[in-house]
Amino acid sequence: MKRIAVVGGGWAGLAAAVRLAEAGRPVTLFEAARQLGGRARRVDWQGLAIDNGQHLMIGAYRETLALMRTLGTDSLLARRPLELSVPDFRLSLPQLPAPLNLIIGQLMAEGLSLKDKLAAAGFMQALKRNGFLLPADGPADELLARHRQPPELVAKLWEPICVAALNTPLRLASAQVFCNVLRDSLARSRADSDLLYQRAHLGRLVPEAARGWLEARGCRVRLSSRVGGIERIGKNYRMSFGEGGEEDFDAVVLAIHPVRLPDLLGQLPQLAAVREQVSAFGWQPILTSWMRFAAPLSFPLPMLGLAPGQGPWVFDRGDVAPGLAAVVISAEGPHLHRPPETLREEFLDLMGRALGPLPELQAWKTIVEKRATFACTPGLSRPGNRTPLPGLVLAGDYTGGDFPTEDYPATLEGAVRSGVKSARLLLESS
Ligand SMILES: Cc1cc2nc3c(=O)[nH]c(=O)nc-3n(C[C@H](O)[C@H](O)[C@H](O)COP(=O)(O)OP(=O)(O)OC[C@H]3O[C@@H](n4cnc5c(N)ncnc54)[C@H](O)[C@@H]3O)c2cc1C
Repeated sequence: MKRIAVVGGGWAGLAAAVRLAEAGRPVTLFEAARQLGGRARRVDWQGLAIDNGQHLMIGAYRETLALMRTLGTDSLLARRPLELSVPDFRLSLPQLPAPLNLIIGQLMAEGLSLKDKLAAAGFMQALKRNGFLLPADGPADELLARHRQPPELVAKLWEPICVAALNTPLRLASAQVFCNVLRDSLARSRADSDLLYQRAHLGRLVPEAARGWLEARGCRVRLSSRVGGIERIGKNYRMSFGEGGEEDFDAVVLAIHPVRLPDLLGQLPQLAAVREQVSAFGWQPILTSWMRFAAPLSFPLPMLGLAPGQGPWVFDRGDVAPGLAAVVISAEGPHLHRPPETLREEFLDLMGRALGPLPELQAWKTIVEKRATFACTPGLSRPGNRTPLPGLVLAGDYTGGDFPTEDYPATLEGAVRSGVKSARLLLESS
């Protein structure tokens, strides 16, 4: 039986390890940090288990939901039909089969003129007619301009969706990946557009449950184990560790953050092309401010947009503690250059307008993940899961599909899909 190493315990590596173990393969998972989860992990703060960054999932996250069902944690998500609310705009999709839910939802949207509603419906129809495949990729703002989407519609609907999903400003974002997201979230089954809200911190959803699940099946999960190098020795792969240890494996899933790949691939000249591809990536940040109030807040919806365009979103995190809220701003922007206290006051002002008078703020903490995701730009060359080396596959939110319509932005679903695919490739080859 093959000895398989999974390097990296983010959601991609965990998905790969679970699917390999399920197929009866003995897996050893190496994680450099003291905990699993990577960019979607638990953080301890003031006696509370919060997240490194507020996350949102949707019904179209099929592989993530399947993984959570395997781990028995899917009940930790609360499913609601899509409702988007930003100042002067509200869209709710009724519980009707697609595409009726979208058509009626768009027609009933509050805060859009009839012209805006018809433009939105016409845009979706035009994309659908072409199977959501563009003749050539380009910036998302140019695609919207070509389809004559009015600026107010862009600011209230398309830009918030694009920035939240691709974590890349509209003017830099890939129009093709934006189309892929619109197809998967709004143009398939009704349930795909549902929003899935966390009822527990990220650690409980997958990382901690996966660790217990893997260990119960005899797999080794090695924390604080940074793989320092990988060499091909005969038909094996030799992992070396900072502390001087070495271990040989027959097969490897490399599931680390792409920014770490070039260093680790230094002794594998066959993967020079992958090194070049990921070295050309740009990065985008995500800022999350955790705010703890003296009393619960009255949220009309679990998530509210506080301003149009790239503005912040606030999430009700009363599931973690009464009076806890998370404010998120995706992607780069001037907010990153403002002092944290100034930003906090801006958030409090916007929250007050959306929620009414706020209870006393007792504590706050801002976390900026500088390389939260790769910049999802037009025509980005992304490596696939397969590599020229037999038995060595890549997994992570950055891997690309075989066709442009398969490319996903850097998301939990992108990471889990990639992990599952890498496991399938190894199983098929053995
Ligand atoms: C703040 C924030 C908010 C986000 N919001 C959303 C959201 O709302 N919805 C959504 O779907 N997605 C969201 N994302 C994106 C999502 O979290 C990521 O796409 C996903 O977690 C990436 O998983 P991964 O396994 O591909 O990579 P990673 O999570 O980066 O995992 C790689 C792992 O490899 C480990 N590692 C690195 N080098 C080594 C080594 N040499 N040896 C051993 N281990 C190593 C790392 O420690 C890490 O644990 C967000 C991300 C952030 C940061």
